[in-house]
Amino acid sequence: MSLEVKVKRLNSQDAGFKETLLSSLSLPMADDEAIDAVVMKILAQVKDRGDAAVLDFTKQFDRLDVASVTELEISQAELKKSYEALSAEQKNALDIAAQRVRAYHEKQKIEAGCHSWEYEEADGTRLGQKVTALDRVGIYVPGGKAAYPSSVLMNAIPAKVAGVQEVIMVVPTPDGARNPLVLAAAYLAGVDRVFTIGGAQAVGALAYGTKTIPPVDKIVGPGNAYVAAAKRRVFGTVGIDMIAGPSEILVLCDGSSNPDWIAMDLFSQAEHDELAQSILLCPDEQFIEKVQASINQLLPEMPRKKVIETSLANRALLIQVKDMAQACEIANDIAAEHLEICAAEPRQWAELIRHAGAIFMGNYTSESLGDYCAGPNHVLPTARTARFSSPLGVYDFIKRSSMIEVSAAGAQTLGTVASTLAHGEGLTAHARAAEMRLNK
Ligand code: NAD
Repeated sequence: MSLEVKVKRLNSQDAGFKETLLSSLSLPMADDEAIDAVVMKILAQVKDRGDAAVLDFTKQFDRLDVASVTELEISQAELKKSYEALSAEQKNALDIAAQRVRAYHEKQKIEAGCHSWEYEEADGTRLGQKVTALDRVGIYVPGGKAAYPSSVLMNAIPAKVAGVQEVIMVVPTPDGARNPLVLAAAYLAGVDRVFTIGGAQAVGALAYGTKTIPPVDKIVGPGNAYVAAAKRRVFGTVGIDMIAGPSEILVLCDGSSNPDWIAMDLFSQAEHDELAQSILLCPDEQFIEKVQASINQLLPEMPRKKVIETSLANRALLIQVKDMAQACEIANDIAAEHLEICAAEPRQWAELIRHAGAIFMGNYTSESLGDYCAGPNHVLPTARTARFSSPLGVYDFIKRSSMIEVSAAGAQTLGTVASTLAHGEGLTAHARAAEMRLNK
């Protein structure tokens, strides 16, 4: 049995190709005025009434009716119990994923300049940068329609590796249904406190603090449109990681792969939601035909075939390109969240890639391995923002302070420079402060 989904075809040689392509790409999550209005009200209530508002909205949206926010906190003992109650197979999988994500981020901490440094000039002036971890971070773990234990690991582990003292996780539990894998992941990742709240009220509670929930310095983690709108609104009071749009995969294939593997990789994004986008770039027309046949062949087997079918029909593209070099140029324009290079010589092409959230090289590197357990973070820039931003990492949980210690000799040279510039700006006190130290 097969199911026909005609995926849109483009050819890079056609007139107007680039315009057609760019207009077909996902955009950042748009401001939805109706959602924004709801979120503003929820945030104002949480800021004003704290715990009482959190309880009201949790009852309204998640149908959880309790008398106090402390009843919504999950104890460390319960987190541990959830982990211990897992099957040996699940425990092993979660352990391996957590270990690999931790090892990668520990390496990143060393390699990515997440440490302090200082140098001394000839006159004894010392300059440098002091790196400190954020004190307290909030992690939003979505829980409205599905559970995401891998998101717990990907958000909490880099925070802990960075040295964040307290990680507070929020996760909605509609009707009180707690997901044991999510709680077990929180235990493994070393999350300090977990509250079963969600939506804009959880974001507000983390940003402003309530009697029970302490205010955090930064909120990270994905969520639905209400969560995204709330994160946008509280930015400035707290830091945020990013506003994630729908997921995307771009596959560059030289035609040497198994078309079934490519079809399934395209499905693996499409099954996230109807707005997810899957794109194939390939110079071999016959191979593109084979991928289209595999799509039709494999789709009926998929439990989420409805979502995949809608996503592929509305958002997917099969693009025939001149050659792999041109595919790399187009990939740089797309700046995809996930970029797979399924080719005999993937590294050769990876060298030409400048913009992508994560680059998966070679026919054995399915993007799904990166989602769960390869080690690098799966929180990645979407909607072409890979042109200017990076995966979530240890560096998102640290900040830098500039360190300046001017010697008496240095104050003579710098004092004259500062005095001249300060007078030029009409800032006399600045100039005098520098001049007073001259020849002293
Ligand atoms: P969620 O936790 O984001 O949202 C649930 C909450 O939304 C509820 O607790 C409720 O407070 C609020 N809400 C729902 N309807 C509301 C309404 N009418 N008014 C006000 N508030 C309302 O869970 P979800 O809904 O399952 O969404 C999860 C999202 O996260 C999905 O879009 C998914 O694709 C995304 N996601 C992204 C990644 C990533 O790495 N980019 C990973 C996992 C999930």
